[in-house]
Amino acid sequence: MSARQAARSFRTVYGTACEDVWEAPGRVNLIGEYTDVNDGFVLPLALPHRTRVAARARRDGRLRLHSAAARGGVVELRVDRLAPGAVRGWAAYPAGVLWALREAGYDIAGADLHVESDVPVGAGLSSSAALEVATALALTELHGRAPDRPELARLARHAENAFVGVPCGAMDQTASACCVTGHALHLDTRSLAHRQVPFDPAGCGLVLLVVDTRVRHALGDGAYARRRAGCEAGARALGVRALRDVPHDQLDAALGALGDDAALRALVRHVVSENHRVAAVAALLDAGDVRAAGPLLTAGHASLRDDFAVSCPELDLVVAAALAAGALGARMTGAGFGGSALVLAEEAAAGEVERAVTGAFAAAGHRAPRVFAATPGDGARRSGQDGQQDGQQDVQQDGERNEQRN
Ligand code: ADP
Ligand code: MG
Repeated sequence: MSARQAARSFRTVYGTACEDVWEAPGRVNLIGEYTDVNDGFVLPLALPHRTRVAARARRDGRLRLHSAAARGGVVELRVDRLAPGAVRGWAAYPAGVLWALREAGYDIAGADLHVESDVPVGAGLSSSAALEVATALALTELHGRAPDRPELARLARHAENAFVGVPCGAMDQTASACCVTGHALHLDTRSLAHRQVPFDPAGCGLVLLVVDTRVRHALGDGAYARRRAGCEAGARALGVRALRDVPHDQLDAALGALGDDAALRALVRHVVSENHRVAAVAALLDAGDVRAAGPLLTAGHASLRDDFAVSCPELDLVVAAALAAGALGARMTGAGFGGSALVLAEEAAAGEVERAVTGAFAAAGHRAPRVFAATPGDGARRSGQDGQQDGQQDVQQDGERNEQRN
């Protein structure tokens, strides 16, 4: 999947050339799970996997949408009729972005978009944010007025919250818009302040594996709402705005104040200790001590499994098999009940870890997981290939662009 291919497919779908191609990555969260719904801290990185949007502006009030991954061909919408709830299915994501941009004062009369992506969908790797952010960058640059990255992320998130109707936090779109190669992104989900933290596993002989279990247990949705409500109840009981406001060194006192409500104590213990782990991992990465982050990832998994109770047998199996095969650390990542896990391992041990995980899945009768290495990549950008050049020129263009960026 390349930008040139996306441009070529655009021509096949619409019978005319696109103006250009834009792209945004999926993301994986290194540490900081369920902290975003408590105003807390997260540490995601951009994946090499990207969603590309080939686009052309229209002046006639129409929005046409096509995705290589969706059935049903081209979706055609009237821009002036876009409203929350008015569009169903995948098209709501890019249509919601156009709606959010117009709500924010961007004078966008319409567009033709073609989408191609290698971000796994529904695996907790944020294909939805990749689609929204790539669309937002495409539409704003097409119309000559791109906002800064945090604003791009805010608009993309607003589309998902208000138009699609998914109450996601700020992490996914911020990661997809703001990440930088060789770094993880430390994000305060209350203030939205973010900071690039150096993270280059390959540079220190390590590999960060993503293991997509390819399962998604149905009980996730109601459980998510219950956990959220539980966290809010915990904050109320402790007299703070959100659990992020409970300092880690006051955790024992806070747990004592919650009395004998064991379930509530467990939720609070997870959130407060997880925020502390985010700070600790960021400090280790700043110090260049990536290996030492391994046990913190594993501790995060134990907390999600035992206290927050959002893991599942497949995720626990990945973590157990990887650690038994010598991994430095492993944890579920994302909302849980399926989706993906992360494994930090020595590069020399990566093959053995992957074989152990795959073997454990086969022995348990599970479908084979999808395993790949996550190299921290760049956030959204113009792919810069209009499909008119041959491959050689494409490479040169990329090179020139990279030099300009550096
Ligand atoms: P995640 O973001 O973790 O992958 P979500 O449920 O938030 O999972 O978003 C997945 C949805 O986003 C898909 O069901 C689809 O509607 C939309 N989507 C994501 N990528 C694409 C794509 N390449 N083409 C069409 N729709 C997409
Ligand atoms: Mg999503």
